Amino acid sequence: MTNRFSGKVAIVTGSSNGIGRATAILFAQEGAKVTITGRNAQRLEETKQEILKAGIPEDHVLAIATDLTTEEGQDKLINETIQKFGKLDILVNNAGAAFNDDKGVVGVDQNVSVYDKIMQINLRSVVTLTQKAKKYLVEAKGEIVNVSSIGAGPQAQPTFLYYAMSKAALDQYTRSAAIDLIQHGVRVNSVSPGAVVTGFGEAMGMPSGMHEKYEKFMETHKECIPCGSIGKPIDIAHIIAFLADRKLSSYIIGQSIVADGGSSLVMGMQAHNMMDILKS
Ligand code: NDP
Repeated sequence: MTNRFSGKVAIVTGSSNGIGRATAILFAQEGAKVTITGRNAQRLEETKQEILKAGIPEDHVLAIATDLTTEEGQDKLINETIQKFGKLDILVNNAGAAFNDDKGVVGVDQNVSVYDKIMQINLRSVVTLTQKAKKYLVEAKGEIVNVSSIGAGPQAQPTFLYYAMSKAALDQYTRSAAIDLIQHGVRVNSVSPGAVVTGFGEAMGMPSGMHEKYEKFMETHKECIPCGSIGKPIDIAHIIAFLADRKLSSYIIGQSIVADGGSSLVMGMQAHNMMDILKS
């Protein structure tokens, strides 16, 4: 354990579960004062308890249960963080979700209300929260790390069309915001995870047990995950910490680091052995 974030204040959105929870715990262990947030107060409390269990003083953690898709929720998050900790050095825009069409429709006919809901949390909330945090991040010459997805492309994603579109737009936001904000000394980068075991499936309404089935399939098919193991939240948390650590990553501006066990490098045509095809 290092103290590389000692004296720093971080907000990690979506830290009531999954990747955000692992990131908040890691930041706190490495010395940061952390604001944790999500809508589910009980899960948020679980994150807080895990931080305290790691021996972090209680006054290093602020838990704010709020809905990030509302302006009031975002104002509360920023204002209460500044009130308690006095500044903001690191903003991790991690909260995100995918939603299913009520009728199970996928592809271009998927109801546009799904598009609205996805864009609201995965894109619009990042845009407005960044606007609200900008003043403080400029004062601190701070860092923003966004959490995107390999779903952003360039491969097509017809099943999760709107989710993929939201992350592709987020990648462009990361690049453009990075060039705009670096003139004020603020760095913006992002991480693009592949499949990671989190609460994401459950939040989409996947019945219990389904996610395990999905994980097993992914891990045993090298055309899905070449390294043979599905991602864990801490794998992504370490990359977020790297991108938030100016000593290690100061010259990286507006980039997205892919962490997917090799998934995005394989094409369907490579899933089959050419020699076997020719022999048959
Ligand atoms: P989880 O479902 O485990 O975590 C999502 C977090 O976002 C929760 O803490 C949830 O909190 C929060 N959240 C969702 N909607 C809102 C809202 N309206 N207001 C406030 N908080 C909200 O999923 P992951 O950890 O997997 O997701 C984290 C990020 O990683 C997302 O951006 C996702 O797109 C991305 N990602 C995930 C991958 C995966 O395979 N798991 C792959 C690629 C990218 P609460 O429910 O308490 O509101």
